[in-house]
Amino acid sequence: LAADEPTRECPLCGETMRLHERELSERVPGTSEFKTRKTFEWVCPECDYFEDFDAPRVEGG
Ligand SMILES: [Zn+2]
Repeated sequence: LAADEPTRECPLCGETMRLHERELSERVPGTSEFKTRKTFEWVCPECDYFEDFDAPRVEGG
């Protein structure tokens, strides 16, 4: 297990949550194009709780 791997406890049940990678498709305003961006979210394996991972944002995207 990597020492710098981020962990987080579920606020509902206290279980260790897991970081899931997820792809989002967004329409580019004013065009018919779609672009895909990756996002991360915390998912609890014990209950249905999930929340956005506070990832650093890339500006100009
Ligand atoms: Zn939970």
